Amino acid sequence: MQFKCKECNEDFSNKRSLHTHIKKHKLLLGDYYVKHFPRFDKLTGDPIGFKGFDQYFSSNFNNNANMIEWCGSAPQQDVRDFILEEFKQKIEEKSLAKAPSSIYLKTAGLPTVDIIKNVFGSYSALCAEVGLDVAFGARLDDEFFKDYSDVDIFVDTRENHPLLFKNATTMKLDFGDYSLTAKDYSYTHVERKSWQDFALTVTSGHKRFLRELERCKRAGCFLFIVVEIDFLDIESVNYAAFKRVNLDYVFHQMRDVESQYPETCQFIFSGSREDSMSLIPKILCLGKRLWRVDLQYFWEKHLKDHGLGKRKSKTAQTFRRYKPKNLAKRGIFGGG
Ligand SMILES: [Zn+2]
Repeated sequence: MQFKCKECNEDFSNKRSLHTHIKKHKLLLGDYYVKHFPRFDKLTGDPIGFKGFDQYFSSNFNNNANMIEWCGSAPQQDVRDFILEEFKQKIEEKSLAKAPSSIYLKTAGLPTVDIIKNVFGSYSALCAEVGLDVAFGARLDDEFFKDYSDVDIFVDTRENHPLLFKNATTMKLDFGDYSLTAKDYSYTHVERKSWQDFALTVTSGHKRFLRELERCKRAGCFLFIVVEIDFLDIESVNYAAFKRVNLDYVFHQMRDVESQYPETCQFIFSGSREDSMSLIPKILCLGKRLWRVDLQYFWEKHLKDHGLGKRKSKTAQTFRRYKPKNLAKRGIFGGG
């Protein structure tokens, strides 16, 4: 394959030498591509911002909000073609063996499950068109909404901040932090993570985490990773954090875990610690009936319908975030 410089028509055998050459024209890479290969946001018509070669040529929008708005307003056939194209491209690029979860779609900037449902009738209808099985296509059992707070739970000895379940016993577990006790054991384990722990686990702890999942897979078990934050709050919490993380990288790594172990794990953003208290016993009790359910998708809707829990978590975060700043302003900490 030849790479031709659009400024002087010189040919190059690879992209890298073309990119080195472009500097001779006193052009930044972004300026070169924007000049010779202009691309425009499908919603606003603004030029697509250049952050890198792959990003530039795979972007149809400057941000997710524009993509979502366009999907809601453009002619149905155009939206349909766009979704199919995006999907096929992602499957090929990532060699996905199964159609990914709702949280994968959302963090990868792909059309959401709800947009897909609007256009194709269901997510599995789209997946059938592209010839993929859905990793998490099962329906949520109504039993999920029963109260399981009395159930007997094993808590791993290494769990640093155990949730205070009514009937909990400490026990050394092979993986995860919570499981049911022997009499009701469901081959289903829950790993509870704060947002910060989660970010570390999938980035610097990535390899170690994959080894844990490998053990889980070999044992025929399933791990639900419950992250104690509302997905909608992640950006603002990270923005206000003392040590910010690169969200794109964190979610890229999370998607990598999902695509390697779609039959062994899934991620759920519970909302808050209180929400984890109600969610975790449900997960453990329904066990295998949830392995193939896109739990994040249903839980998000559940949180939306139960606004009180959400408001509580917001208040707690705002309190934690701003109190120290205000105190420092008033000099209570001695003006250090
Ligand atoms: Zn040139």
